[in-house]
Amino acid sequence: LGYNRPTNPRLADRNDIYAAPEAYSESNTTHKSVPMLLSPVNATDFNTDIYQVKSLITAFKEAGFSTAFLSNQRYNRSFIDFFAEESDTCVFIKELDDNATSLSRNSRPDSDLLPWLDKILAQEALKQLIVLHTYGSHFNYLDRYAKNDELFTPCDYTEATKSNRDKLINAYDNTIVATDRLLTDCISRLDSIDGAFAGLLYTSDHGEDIFDNGSGRFLHASPRPTLYQVHVPMIAWLSAGYQESYPDIVAAVGRNISCLISTSRSFCPSAFEMAGIKVSGNAMTDTAASIFSDHYEPREQLYLTDHNTPVTLKSIL
Ligand SMILES: [Zn+2]
Repeated sequence: LGYNRPTNPRLADRNDIYAAPEAYSESNTTHKSVPMLLSPVNATDFNTDIYQVKSLITAFKEAGFSTAFLSNQRYNRSFIDFFAEESDTCVFIKELDDNATSLSRNSRPDSDLLPWLDKILAQEALKQLIVLHTYGSHFNYLDRYAKNDELFTPCDYTEATKSNRDKLINAYDNTIVATDRLLTDCISRLDSIDGAFAGLLYTSDHGEDIFDNGSGRFLHASPRPTLYQVHVPMIAWLSAGYQESYPDIVAAVGRNISCLISTSRSFCPSAFEMAGIKVSGNAMTDTAASIFSDHYEPREQLYLTDHNTPVTLKSIL
């Protein structure tokens, strides 16, 4: 997508990845962004509907899917936990080992989710939804990757200060290399299931400031966002069997992926369409938001403020 460093060598090596250059989240905080990804709620109806809506997990269940939610985050008593509990199998791997120290829990790599993914796939359900909630690139970056993903050095910062920006960027970019490995590991597992109609949809809940453009800003979740905090990746992959059987979906995502995409608005309807699920009821009918739709319509990018009010992104930047 134009970044000048090879942070995703494995995904870039495949020719079956759809990657969005202009995808934005409607929140820069984990606790609001993730629930919008997991449900049909977005900035326009968050304030009224988030307290009543069921997540996409329930829709998949009602459509006959087995459902699993595998998380490498801690319980945080937010809507994320609440939605996760809707699934048939719900595992927060950081909460499993009572004897682990806080330090060893918090540095658990996302790749520790893979054995759990394998367990679910080994059950060979006819229809299966698996949600992986990774820890991704959340600070502290140095805890998010193994030595073999340390492509960019030096990254040995001890303090997150402006003067250490180069080292922070190197470490952050190494976390992307680890995510590239994880996503490719997931795809190769799905790819190896003979004849499966399989797909993978990936996005991040928010971006990050790392003292960009000489500013003093660091991390995310500030009351006023920056573009860096809401510009996110969104990636889709479809198996060969899926692509052969649904050429219209393939053609649509090929066209739509380059358009402006709000992940908060599009992720859930896209997951539904990818799985062939039709849903009814208010917010659930926004099929023009699906990146797999032949009538996808971009919408001016919105942002959900601290007061849960939708505003246009450009008005707040
Ligand atoms: Zn987050």
